[in-house]
Amino acid sequence: MPLELVTLPCLENNYAFLLHDEASGDTALVDAPEADPILDALDARGWRLGVILLTHHHYDHIDGVSALTRATGARVIGAGADAHRLPPLSQEVAPGEVLHICGAPAHVIDVPGHTVGHVAFHFPEDRLVFTGDSLMAMGCGRLFEGTPDQMWQSLGRLSTLPPDTLVCSGHEYTQTNARFAAGLGPASPALIERMDRIARARNAGLPTVPSTLAEELATNPFLRASDPAMKAALGMDGAPDAAVFTEIRARRDRF
Ligand code: ZN
Ligand code: FE
Repeated sequence: MPLELVTLPCLENNYAFLLHDEASGDTALVDAPEADPILDALDARGWRLGVILLTHHHYDHIDGVSALTRATGARVIGAGADAHRLPPLSQEVAPGEVLHICGAPAHVIDVPGHTVGHVAFHFPEDRLVFTGDSLMAMGCGRLFEGTPDQMWQSLGRLSTLPPDTLVCSGHEYTQTNARFAAGLGPASPALIERMDRIARARNAGLPTVPSTLAEELATNPFLRASDPAMKAALGMDGAPDAAVFTEIRARRDRF
């Protein structure tokens, strides 16, 4: 039985995700921007929250934790490296570890860049990856703590997952990201098609998250830093991939 995935809009433009295993009744949450919409979603479905997974320490991913643990008694799992600035953890994890969440294996992947202790959670059996503010729909997180090199390597780790993996990322920034991508150079048919889909979803008030890794590989400018066409569009023919990534990230910061 595949896990059920619920995408929950929180705060201004954040997403949290519920995972539910029908067979065992186990329910997990990835990131906790605020408690109320998450408690409402649990109530509406009659689900009991057992565990909260945290991608990174920013307030818009953890502020709901204390109210949620008080209300549900859920365990909290996050990177041991960031235990000093995450809410109290029931379990500290390290990159490379394999957890069992809702009856399914969940691999902890090191994705520093946005923050240095940032992790992603990959559920290979269900083709899901929870990326927080590392790989995002048509974008990637701003580099608050890590180096461009670190983020480029983090994105490289995520881009080797199966292309049909659903990328469950932390924010609805997709339309702005798409406008930025279109301004970088000649738009590919894949980009034009995706921009159209994004506009239709947003006009209907629907999330553009999750996306598939395949569409990110085809249209996310940050994953295309190694593409000769992208290098040419930026006037960086033959430049190292990481340098091209650095340039794209710098342009996005000014966008
Ligand atoms: Zn963040
Ligand atoms: Fe965030």
